[in-house]
Amino acid sequence: MKQLSLDTLAQFLKEYVAAEPQRSGTENFWREPILASAPADDRFDILPEIAMDEHLLPNDLLETARSVLVFFIPFEKWLVKENKEGDRPCRNWGLAYVKTNDLIDRAGRAMGDLLRDAGFRSGLTPATHNFDEQKLMARWSHKHLAHLVGLGRFGTHCMLITPEGCCGRFGSLVTEAELGDNPLMNTPEACLLKAGKKCGKCIEKCPVGALEEAAFDRRKCWDRLNENHAVLDYFSDLPDTTDVCGKCVAMMPCSFTNPVKSQPGRTGKK
Ligand code: SF4
Ligand code: SF4
Repeated sequence: MKQLSLDTLAQFLKEYVAAEPQRSGTENFWREPILASAPADDRFDILPEIAMDEHLLPNDLLETARSVLVFFIPFEKWLVKENKEGDRPCRNWGLAYVKTNDLIDRAGRAMGDLLRDAGFRSGLTPATHNFDEQKLMARWSHKHLAHLVGLGRFGTHCMLITPEGCCGRFGSLVTEAELGDNPLMNTPEACLLKAGKKCGKCIEKCPVGALEEAAFDRRKCWDRLNENHAVLDYFSDLPDTTDVCGKCVAMMPCSFTNPVKSQPGRTGKK
């Protein structure tokens, strides 16, 4: 059995994402991915409480799991800028969602193959659609996993803010390899409002008023995502599962960075 470090996996994923536009003949929607890992320990026992009661644990995906690895593939700035305009998502935002989910599934499997070749089994779930449409929560929430491994912190918009911001998508896997504890966040909060600073721009931007400082109307948001697919002619060739909006993350202080970190000395909790 060979040893495989997080750095090796990070380099592999970076090259995999960089090669994607040429591989799949698509536009380049992506910046360089980032990864964090944690031992598959009891920190994950809290998932049924903070995500949903039927949320799976790492050992449900793979009984022999020793580590949880979560990655984030950030979107290119031009795409985020394009999605800022108007109250509906732009065509490219929907397309990037579809293409990124596909990329995440393949990249996760490719990392699983790399781990397998080194002698370690892995467990994977798809990037999305492991979703309970009544509770509006995922049974394997990449975002909550990312929070627990220290890849990001939840913002007022209920998206995760990473060192590369909040515009992009997450993937994860569990593996028998010992990857260690490698968090990336070094501030207790990454949202300005949650850190006691002035912001709330995401609240102002939501076209359906789903966001408040300390509340999120999940149903209002979900209905809007579905409505977007139904009313936008330029989404008609995209799958029914293209449930997107992204107005609360486009060109915000947290879109491309952890804004709490970029304000020295402003790291307190609210
Ligand atoms: S826009 Fe401001 S309030 Fe909203 S999540 Fe980002 S930093 Fe927090
Ligand atoms: S995704 Fe859209 S509808 Fe949902 S909270 Fe953000 S801005 Fe509001």
